[in-house]
Amino acid sequence: MRCSKCNDSKVDFIPMGKYAHAEFCQSCFSKCKECDGDGFVFEVDDHGHEFAKKCSCQDLKHRIMLFNNAQIPSQFYDVSFSNFKVSGNASLQSALDTARFSFKNYKIGNWKGLLFMGGVGVGKTRLVSTMIKDYTLKYGIPCLFQEFSSLLSSIKSGYDKGFSESSILEKINNIEILVVDELGKGRKSDWEINILDTIISNRYNTRKTTIFTTNYTDKKETSYQDSARKKLDGEEREKNETLEQRVLPRIYSRLKGMCDFIEMKGPDFRYPKTEYSA
Ligand SMILES: [Zn+2]
Ligand SMILES: [Zn+2]
Repeated sequence: MRCSKCNDSKVDFIPMGKYAHAEFCQSCFSKCKECDGDGFVFEVDDHGHEFAKKCSCQDLKHRIMLFNNAQIPSQFYDVSFSNFKVSGNASLQSALDTARFSFKNYKIGNWKGLLFMGGVGVGKTRLVSTMIKDYTLKYGIPCLFQEFSSLLSSIKSGYDKGFSESSILEKINNIEILVVDELGKGRKSDWEINILDTIISNRYNTRKTTIFTTNYTDKKETSYQDSARKKLDGEEREKNETLEQRVLPRIYSRLKGMCDFIEMKGPDFRYPKTEYSA
């Protein structure tokens, strides 16, 4: 009989604190029937000798660990490509298709990433979270999600604890697929731009795949169309900057080289009662 809790995937998802968490489904897989929970099974070779072999459940266990280490925000614990709302919007459908089939082109060292641009609430973070879920659980690739401003604060707190910049950035530099959410957010200080430059240069030079989301776009006319019509001051003017103005030309040109840019135009799904709301 099919497990109604996990749909026979053997994996159950739980929002646990800050990050999405996965574990073996307790309803159908509290203990592996193949290995009785030992993690290995005994087989007999051609000469009649018995030998121990890693049970297939250990591979799934490893993928679950990759998912749990990816730091996907817990609000996206149950995302999937099939429950991503596009509601007939061609731009969102195209972004979804690109994300969904991006793995087809993925090769270690192939390094071409994606950069999703679009206004608040169109579903960029949800989409990249879905990609990480697939990459870790389905394909066993180590991924790490980092919201840009919390990345900056964790670097700052690392300094306060006396860690060197290189030791703080080690994980960011070495992870197979890095997701940087909300690129361009922040105060755009010299220090922030420097850190971003260090991270991006390193990943560029080591040909590692990086996926970005940003509220800024590369065309002025599509950056926050609403605020462009208003008299701009302070924060509003900041929002109306292009991505290139936010991250400065040197970083922008690296981004162009290492990512395909994808624009997501759509309503803010976080506010109900839009023409697209379900
Ligand atoms: Zn189950
Ligand atoms: Zn097993």
